[in-house]
Amino acid sequence: MAKIKYFYNPNKLDFEKVGTNIWSIVLRVFGFLSASAVAGGIMVFVAYSFIDSPKEKALKRENEQYKVQIRYLNKKINDLGRAIAELKDRDANIYRAIFEAEPIEIKLGKAGSADKYRSLEGFDNTEELIALNKKVDELTIQVSAQSKSFDELSKLAKNKTEFLASIPAIQPISNKDLTRVASGYGYRIHPIFKTHKFHSGIDFTAPQGTPIYATGNGTVSLAENGNGYGNHVIVYHGFGYSSLYAHMSRIKARPGQKVKRGELIGYVGSTGTSTAPHVHYEVIKGSNKINPINYFFNDLTEEEYQAIRDIASREGQSFD
Ligand SMILES: [Zn+2]
Repeated sequence: MAKIKYFYNPNKLDFEKVGTNIWSIVLRVFGFLSASAVAGGIMVFVAYSFIDSPKEKALKRENEQYKVQIRYLNKKINDLGRAIAELKDRDANIYRAIFEAEPIEIKLGKAGSADKYRSLEGFDNTEELIALNKKVDELTIQVSAQSKSFDELSKLAKNKTEFLASIPAIQPISNKDLTRVASGYGYRIHPIFKTHKFHSGIDFTAPQGTPIYATGNGTVSLAENGNGYGNHVIVYHGFGYSSLYAHMSRIKARPGQKVKRGELIGYVGSTGTSTAPHVHYEVIKGSNKINPINYFFNDLTEEEYQAIRDIASREGQSFD
């Protein structure tokens, strides 16, 4: 029910009813509607600007998930790349060197051509997606090349059972936790002369009396005390390979003796030019002293091989 309004008429000194004409009602209704519309508009604007609709929320969540997944994939792909690089390295440095096969060449081909990734253009994360896809394509090529190389090597290995049993393939002392490698092959500071001198083997430190083992099947070609090597043993493995074990406290093997891989040939000592008990170990191929690090493949996993390589490549002083 509408309220009845009065106004005070000073001429009549009385209250009189306010007359209501149709226009004032129309104006009032119109005013009210416009005010509501403006207020409603502002509210909707505020709501859309600051509060997400459930659909938007879901999309944002999805977007975040994609970002996390891309980051994860990226990491995985980088890990894979590293693993393949290690395999490649090991393949080129060890297996191919041992079997005297020519290194394989990996051609990268057209993995990086721009056309291939056109469908990925026009998104927020286009660059990231293209980079990711390029990496995957490159890895695919490398994996297939590597697998061809291993196929070839496995054929070579089948015909070389005797060869594989003979050549040096383990460490000369037990070194399960890899802490025994003290100095690697390469230029090192000589412990006595203090000069930069080529160190032609690997030094394994171990307590006096630790057993030393032949690293491959063969015949003891030398077992004597002499030179800077002190008490030392040389085993001839055939196929042009020999191994040398120096600074023994006591020699167990005798010249002409046939030995198997892992057989005891002497004990760790510090005879000859040596600063502390250790075994100086060399691998000789033909007339060259080569890096023994590539001849531990029988008793090391991929990770151990990597770790021992890192340790042996450190600069510093040898025990000689
Ligand atoms: Zn040494």
